[in-house]
Amino acid sequence: MLSQPIFQAIINSIPNPIIITNGNKIFKSNDIFIDFFHYKNLDDFMNENSCVCNLFIEDDAYFSLASIDENISWVEYIHSSEDTIRVKMLNKKKEFRVFHITINIIEQEKNYFLVVFTDITALENEKTMLENMAYKDPLTGIYNRQMFNRFLLKESENKKRHGDVLSLIMFDIDHFKRVNDTYGHDVGDQVLITLCKLITDNLRVNDIFARWGGEEFMILLPRTELDTAFHKSLELKQIVEDYDDEAIPHITLSFGVTEIRMKDKERSCFKRVDEALYKAKVKRNDVVKL
Ligand code: GH3
Ligand code: MG
Ligand code: MG
Repeated sequence: MLSQPIFQAIINSIPNPIIITNGNKIFKSNDIFIDFFHYKNLDDFMNENSCVCNLFIEDDAYFSLASIDENISWVEYIHSSEDTIRVKMLNKKKEFRVFHITINIIEQEKNYFLVVFTDITALENEKTMLENMAYKDPLTGIYNRQMFNRFLLKESENKKRHGDVLSLIMFDIDHFKRVNDTYGHDVGDQVLITLCKLITDNLRVNDIFARWGGEEFMILLPRTELDTAFHKSLELKQIVEDYDDEAIPHITLSFGVTEIRMKDKERSCFKRVDEALYKAKVKRNDVVKL
């Protein structure tokens, strides 16, 4: 049998936070665990925290107590789960760190579990960065054209299968070339960033907003009829027209609106929405539905 100091030395040599717990009480921890939360020793940690599980931050993408029924033990849940369980916690510098948790039973009768937290923050950050590069427009942070096409395909299939209504808005900045010519390209970029934030803030979470190219944008509105999409466009047009920000020049938008039809071929909705936008450009700062 290992003596206490030798056992402690072994777990201290492992570069991941480690605890032995029954799910509430922690019987043993290594120094990295204590240091992560900036406590002096385990007693101090336990005096302030009834369970480390309370420090798992609630977030849809990660495990926390909110992910399970309150009468289920988190250690037993993670131990028996076949999925990779990841949690998010704040370190002593109040930075978010992501850990993969592995749990092994040490003594069944005593309910002793060995919990190892492996820091995968760097991996998670890289994954997010790659996802963003693949799905998002780097300037504005909204979806790119490829991702928009994927959403359109998915929503069009839903329409065919369940008969859901689906609308499409395309809009373009009026006389944007003048903005660049007058104030320079950097100010033009700032206009695009601010505009995208303004539009995003005024859409529903289910609406898909993407940069189609240059200063042209698409919005896909699931479960939305043509007239509702038309009125939404009028509202967005007005919000941008009324937007007052001394950091950027004033702009207006022109909108084309259409509803996806059952008999639409792959590209026919683009053709129709583009035609509607073209008609709106006659007056500019206008909305046309087709
Ligand atoms: P219209 O009202 O007919 O749409 O006129 P417009 O000037 O907006 O249209 P035009 O197609 O002539 O010009 C679009 C301009 O958008 C030209 C291009 O330099 C600018 N643009 C496209 N992408 C970007 C970008 O990422 N940043 C900046 N600053 N400008 C861009
Ligand atoms: Mg334009
Ligand atoms: Mg254009």
